[in-house]
Amino acid sequence: RSGTASANEDINVQIEDVTKVFQNDEGNDIVAVEDLDIDIRRGEFLVFVGPSGCGKTTSLRMVAGLETPTEGKIRIEDEDVTGYDPRERGIAMVFQNYALYPHMTVAENMSFPLRIRNYPSDEIDDRVDEAAELLEIDDLLDRKPSQLSGGQQQRVALGRAIVREPSVFLMDEPLSNLDAKLRVQMRTELNEIHQRVGKTTIYVTHDQAEAMTLGDRVAVLNDGTLQQIGPPQYLYDNPVNRFVAGFIGEPPMNFLPVSIRETNDGYDAVGEFFEFELPRDVVRDIDEWDGSLDHVTLGVRPEDLSNLSVLDHDEYTENSTLDASVKVVEPMGSDKFLTLTSPTDDTTEFSARVSPESTVAPGESISLAANLEKIHLFDERTGENIT
Ligand code: ATP
Repeated sequence: RSGTASANEDINVQIEDVTKVFQNDEGNDIVAVEDLDIDIRRGEFLVFVGPSGCGKTTSLRMVAGLETPTEGKIRIEDEDVTGYDPRERGIAMVFQNYALYPHMTVAENMSFPLRIRNYPSDEIDDRVDEAAELLEIDDLLDRKPSQLSGGQQQRVALGRAIVREPSVFLMDEPLSNLDAKLRVQMRTELNEIHQRVGKTTIYVTHDQAEAMTLGDRVAVLNDGTLQQIGPPQYLYDNPVNRFVAGFIGEPPMNFLPVSIRETNDGYDAVGEFFEFELPRDVVRDIDEWDGSLDHVTLGVRPEDLSNLSVLDHDEYTENSTLDASVKVVEPMGSDKFLTLTSPTDDTTEFSARVSPESTVAPGESISLAANLEKIHLFDERTGENIT
């Protein structure tokens, strides 16, 4: 498909080359967000994720109109809203402190944004009923917030946003006040609600698991700059750099220093206590790369290391194995999580998720096979993924 006009109809929110600079108390510049450029599609669930201070809240607040970009523009429905008030933007926000009015019933809380905008009362009733049904809180409408569970309160807060029928929902860590179990449950519910409502949603979280399960696309931020944006599984499988590789996935990817050595028919990755023969497509990537072959970091996810003793012989090659000492064993039911060290010195720690049938105990040695099709190589200096 070509032509920007028809393409634009599918775009709901545009963050155009946006930079935000704050001044701290000493008058120094703090670049909170730098050159952020993202088109958000109609109906898309986009998640901003990254560590504390990476700029995700500031990015959301600029879309909301609560911060003004130092440079760049925000467009909603193809209209430049950069100078508009939050109320003029057709957005609704849900924050972590969802602050329901304690003296109002659920119905009164939900109808509040419509009442202050002087909607006719029968339309208010219709919208509240519809949202309550959608959120499955229709039997709670006469209760006060104090008579609700945390999850129910969260749903009322969502309802208060939904009744306004905004074109975009903005959510900043809306689940962070809930306990761990409820968070996971509400995550699934949010997914379901989003599918039913179908509205563009921009969501901020520091929790990569939340980002992975909720996002149609995930935008990973670090230090105010976008590292990578894409569907969660794509980011998991194809991280552009070491930061994204280490941030997405739990337990995180292992990073081990290696140097790349040329062999008769390709390359080996030589580490402190292993030597892997690199697969053909990785060899091609190395040939096209002009960095230093002595300063490379090998990345391998814990689930891509398997216990040799429970593998069939055709599942691995000689040149994909390594020995390690077992430090900690954590049975998780579906698998066992091992904390390992190199056999020679116990300062290099890494981890593996192995089959629950693996019978290993702390202090023992173990032989592992790495799935070399799944490994990554990073430029040690820049962190760039070269595979
Ligand atoms: P968190 O998860 O901790 O909320 P975040 O990723 O949402 O972090 P932001 O709140 O967007 O990060 O902050 C980005 C950077 O901008 C931080 O260095 C922060 O200290 C700074 N910052 C944010 N708001 C202001 C402000 N009003 N004045 C000065 N600096 C600010």
